[in-house]
Amino acid sequence: MKNPNLYYIYSKSAAQRIFDAEVKKVQIFHNCILVVFNKGQGLKPKFVAKRVFKAHFAEYRKASARQVFVSYKPIYGYFRAPSSNLQESYRIELFPRHLKCSCADWRTQEEIGIKSPMCKHAYAVLDYIGNTSLADYIERRGCEFVDHQRQTEGTDIYLQEVHQEKMTYDY
Ligand SMILES: [Zn+2]
Repeated sequence: MKNPNLYYIYSKSAAQRIFDAEVKKVQIFHNCILVVFNKGQGLKPKFVAKRVFKAHFAEYRKASARQVFVSYKPIYGYFRAPSSNLQESYRIELFPRHLKCSCADWRTQEEIGIKSPMCKHAYAVLDYIGNTSLADYIERRGCEFVDHQRQTEGTDIYLQEVHQEKMTYDY
């Protein structure tokens, strides 16, 4: 396993949410994930396709985004969203082909090689501006908010697939 950080996606807690069961461990194989359940639940170890975890990764964040209160700062051209404990505030910026957030989840996703990181704050912003997905956002990039952004991209233009089912990883 070249990139142990991929356990961020193929995590025990994700497996627990997917199967609604207590999970003892997850192990990454080439194309799939072995999920071993805690004893006493009558569940045998299971091999699961990576795409199941990838889809859950996005769906979980989309669902969590519903609890996020987003505000737009027109003077600065970016969005703000509070952390769940309201102790911090994150900054979310729009670019023509991706969104960027200052939270730890977004940064970790970038570090482990996800080409278009999407945290719950980024999904909340998409919802706020009336987009249903990142693909939808990119398609409708005439979006008025983009014009407010400083267009600093260049190397930021990615040609990757954008839907969460098609996320590509560096491993
Ligand atoms: Zn975020």
